Amino acid sequence: MSPSTRAAVTVNGTSYRWPLRPVVVVCIDGGDPRYLQRYLAEGRIPHIARFVREGFAGVADGSMPSFTCPNNMSIITGTPTARHGISGNFYLDTRTWEPVVMTGPELLRGDTILARFAAAGAKVVSITAKDKLRRQLGKGLDVSQGHVSLSSEHAGRCTLAENGIENVLEYVGMAQPDMYSMELSLLVLEAGLKLLADRRPDLLYLSLTDWVQHKWAPEEADALKFYEKLDDAFGRLAAHDITLALTADHGMSDKSNAAGEPNVIWLQDILDARFGAGETTVICPITDAFVGHHGALGGFVRVWSRGRVTARQIIDAIAGIDGIELALDRETAARLFEMPADREGDVAVIAREHHCIGSSARNHDLAGLAGHRLRTHGGLSEAKVPMIFSRPLNDAYKARAAAVPLKSWQIFDYAINGTV
Ligand SMILES: [Zn+2]
Repeated sequence: MSPSTRAAVTVNGTSYRWPLRPVVVVCIDGGDPRYLQRYLAEGRIPHIARFVREGFAGVADGSMPSFTCPNNMSIITGTPTARHGISGNFYLDTRTWEPVVMTGPELLRGDTILARFAAAGAKVVSITAKDKLRRQLGKGLDVSQGHVSLSSEHAGRCTLAENGIENVLEYVGMAQPDMYSMELSLLVLEAGLKLLADRRPDLLYLSLTDWVQHKWAPEEADALKFYEKLDDAFGRLAAHDITLALTADHGMSDKSNAAGEPNVIWLQDILDARFGAGETTVICPITDAFVGHHGALGGFVRVWSRGRVTARQIIDAIAGIDGIELALDRETAARLFEMPADREGDVAVIAREHHCIGSSARNHDLAGLAGHRLRTHGGLSEAKVPMIFSRPLNDAYKARAAAVPLKSWQIFDYAINGTV
């Protein structure tokens, strides 16, 4: 059957036509629009400049909180956070009062677009930098059927049974990258390119890591070097007669003061001083195993109360702190930012652009910053992301893009249904 006569695939309520050509969606982790704006103006990323000129480019709303896992899950399910349920790396289980890792596939609600297309007979590939994300992105994907799901973190130990591919480093011709390197992201793209050339899958999702953007601002030479390499890879991808769609999971803001020290609000310490130790628990949902580059500090935290302190009292205690943008009760936060109320704290707290929020000073190790200014994300100031397509939008999606705000969780919808 030709692609145009194959049945549409419905995933979580959205209908996707059969892709006319391979659709490759790249999530530039931490890809704040400011990087692209600067390098486009300087003429340093000619392939992306061509997509902007000949295809479509806009700035979209990412999902809140502006963290990696929630946004990758929004993109891959085509739904807001409220629907898929992954609103951070951790939430607090109030039955045990223990933080629960939210990055396992079992907590993801609904199907991924990749898994549904695979079940309908498409060939799909999912490649990401960190293995924790690989497991969620690969939810429901049967790799014994010719699909591929791998992470560059574990590229050296891929197996046919787990990943649908083996000997990845030899196949791609790269060494195993360090967890803190730009090569960890570049391997994702090179593996995607090789699989595109050899197998021409219908859908590819390539998700990078934000180590570069945490470390370097747009004006720093190493950030430019990374984006030039990305641009080169995007040019080679687009040469394969595909629809290429570029977005980001979140942006990135400088959160240090003039002296180069991080502007941190130690919220647990503040709440303990006000209400007593043990009455409230601050959870930083950015925390994961690899936090050397940001010290588990982000622009969004959740506060749970043991019961004696009300949400109102917590909000009042926080409201006047310099650097706080919003402190909202569970229902308001969930409604305003389309987040799942059952995984929300009693209070959600969002920092302003140049501040971040930690729990207790003693719980965060900032040694990994090693003289670098703290750059991180999580708040509203990092929720704007680029949305770029290598092909023009069709009339229906052009009208839609002009009429309603772009949402990054709709990028597969736009790429599959909305491009010519
Ligand atoms: Zn990220």
